[in-house]
Order: sequence, then structure tokens, then C-alpha cells
Amino acid sequence: MIGTATGIIRALNSGIKHLAIKRFTLRYPEEKLKFVGDGYQFDPSTGVGIAGLKGRHLLFHDHCTGCQLCSIACEGVAEAIAMVKVPEEHKQNKKAIMPQIDYGKCVFCGLCVDACPFYALYMTNDYELSSFSKEGLIYTPAQLQVKPYVAQDSEIIITSRGATHG
Ligand code: SF4
Ligand code: SF4
Repeated sequence: MIGTATGIIRALNSGIKHLAIKRFTLRYPEEKLKFVGDGYQFDPSTGVGIAGLKGRHLLFHDHCTGCQLCSIACEGVAEAIAMVKVPEEHKQNKKAIMPQIDYGKCVFCGLCVDACPFYALYMTNDYELSSFSKEGLIYTPAQLQVKPYVAQDSEIIITSRGATHG
């Protein structure tokens, strides 16, 4: 009996505390959140990840050697990366192969970014990847090299009273 009463008091106390916290709702898709940074990155020289949103990847063709380490890292996770031929020539990439990513399989873990030793693969703030077809979710190396435009108009403002947006 005492335990039940204590539980009710705790629940009421918690509920009352939350009444004072400001809530906010964004009018998505008209309003979009502004993220901190440009997306998740990894610095292989220090072995340190740079925090950021794990959205659509960005591939730097002039850095990619075709080493396949990103693809190998993904094998045990989602098998979302296929190494495909690219038409252009880069002296550091003798086989002329680069990653192609299937966002129908990708779980956005970022392990492929961590595995890339050549600063060729990062992630961006682009999370709007929906498509009407499965094929539309497959991004070729040519598509991955295009830096996405990400609309970000509402900044999160965090205060002691909770979070709101600008
Ligand atoms: S982020 Fe996607 S592509 Fe990269 S390892 Fe994870 S599942 Fe594979
Ligand atoms: S993106 Fe990086 S890990 Fe993947 S093939 Fe290119 S250089 Fe190797």
C-alpha cells in the first residue's frame, strides 16, 4: 500500500516538473532543424571521430584509392556497399573502382567512414533520401561525390527550461 502511494507521488511529482518544461514542434517539412557541423567524419591520422549527423555519404573521388576497406567494413553490418567501376582515371586508384551505396540496406552506422584511411568518405546532414523505387536508393560514386544541399532553418536553443527552436 505504502509502495503504491509512493509510486503515485513520484509519478505526480515527475509530471508536475515536466509542466514547466517548454515543448516545441517543428512544422516539418516546411521547417527543418539546423544541425551542428557538416556531418559525421573520421580523422584516420588521430583515430578520432568528429561528431555529426550520420546522413548520406560524401565521396571524394580524388582521394579514393579503391582499397575496398569501406566495403569490407560494411560486409558484416549491412552489405550496402558495392565496389563499382568508374569512368574517370585517378592516379591513386589504379583499378578505377569506388564505393556505391544502397540506402535501402545502409543502417548509417558510419563504420565505412571509420575504415577509410584516405579521407575519401564522410557523412553529411542529408537525411531526406526517400525514393519511390529501390533503384532510387542506390547512389553511384558520381552521385556520392555531389555535396548535398541541406535546408536548415531552425536552430535548437537549449535552456534550463527545455529546448525550443529559433
Ligand atoms: S554507414 Fe551504411 S554503408 Fe557504411 S558501414 Fe554502415 S551500413 Fe554500411
Ligand atoms: S572510400 Fe576510402 S575505404 Fe572506400 S575504397 Fe575509397 S579509399 Fe578505400
